[in-house]
Amino acid sequence: MSLEQIRAKYTELQGAGLKLDLTRGKPSSQQLDLSNGLLVLPGAGEFKAADGTDVRNYGGLQGLPEARALFTALVGVPVEQIVLGNNASLALMHDTIVFALLKGVCDSDKPWGKEDIAFLCPVPGYDRHFSICEEHGIKMIPVKLNDDGPDMDEVERLVAGDASIKGMWCVPKYSNPTGAVYSDAVVERLAGMKTAAKDFRIFWDNAYGVHHLTEEKVAIANLLALCEAKGNPNRAFVFASSSKITFAGAGISAVGASAENVKWLLKRMFPQTIGPDKVNQLRHVAFLKDAAGIDALMAKHRALLAPKFECVLRVFEEELTGIEGVSWTKPKGGYFISLEVPSGCAKRVVALAKEAGVVLTPAGSTHPYGKDPEDRTIRIAPSFPGLAEVEKAAKAVALCVQLVAAEG
Ligand code: PLP
Repeated sequence: MSLEQIRAKYTELQGAGLKLDLTRGKPSSQQLDLSNGLLVLPGAGEFKAADGTDVRNYGGLQGLPEARALFTALVGVPVEQIVLGNNASLALMHDTIVFALLKGVCDSDKPWGKEDIAFLCPVPGYDRHFSICEEHGIKMIPVKLNDDGPDMDEVERLVAGDASIKGMWCVPKYSNPTGAVYSDAVVERLAGMKTAAKDFRIFWDNAYGVHHLTEEKVAIANLLALCEAKGNPNRAFVFASSSKITFAGAGISAVGASAENVKWLLKRMFPQTIGPDKVNQLRHVAFLKDAAGIDALMAKHRALLAPKFECVLRVFEEELTGIEGVSWTKPKGGYFISLEVPSGCAKRVVALAKEAGVVLTPAGSTHPYGKDPEDRTIRIAPSFPGLAEVEKAAKAVALCVQLVAAEG
């Protein structure tokens, strides 16, 4: 198409009165419906946990053992090393960092907040991880995220040479937003690398551990087991939640870590709460039952989600193939597709889409401080709208990319 033709199509699009939203990675209401069984659980008169605990009452800071058991595969440690939180793993991540800032972690000499500290941030990454750092004055150092995980030469160089680097964010499986999956070699290097800070921590956010989009159930190496094997047992906190398994607003969150880290965390949580929502834990156990129950439910999610991803990928393939500087990821799981446009063009594409009635996540939000130095990355979240809307939105986005590319 000539530039004139693309412009004409764009003018037509502007007049089409679209009102579409591809911003946040929320489950659709059809996905939420899959867990409506929870709304009537645990059921009248059902308030006893397996060990007889009355879940209506205070207590049980670590979470019901049978609810913790739902997370053993996701975090990779036995129930004794898992702590449950309420509905947001993000809150667990936030609080763990705030505890470290105020108190230091179990092997710190002083609170992290007593010095200027930094976190490594693989990019593109999850904006809310970056918001936690920004909120609490933690400097963010971007490192490139490849298809098999972060650039490990760079990570090893940085952590070995700078004791102010206390932490690192990782979304190891079906990452937000590229869908990258960390290879076993990368996980092994993360577990074993030399760090100048003896109290360095990896914040391993396994948010999409069971969120497959294809037949292939991609597996990743067990970070906590490798940390232990390499002599760094306290190196990692592993987070997960049922937000995108059951209800995004009413799930359970979990963190797994070494026995020493768990002891430290429970000590910090003790003054914070008398215990989490155990009624919700009990109904999740009744509803999900076990790993097989989770698997069966995730297959139903996949049946709803996969066609939306396939649709976006098909539209991009048809409309964007061969345009210089344009590429996109083809995730095998998770909630996002990452679209790369020619350098300096992401903001313009997002603005053009907005003018045509399609709201995209702001360009830059995939990078620390909201600044994508190359202005290239756009996060596409196809989960929430219906399939027909996803198709319209993908075509509109593709046209905006064509326009920007043709304008040069
Ligand atoms: N971590 C990642 C990587 C996410 O993409 C999201 C949601 O989009 C979350 C965490 C939020 O998890 P939760 O609902 O458990 O707070």
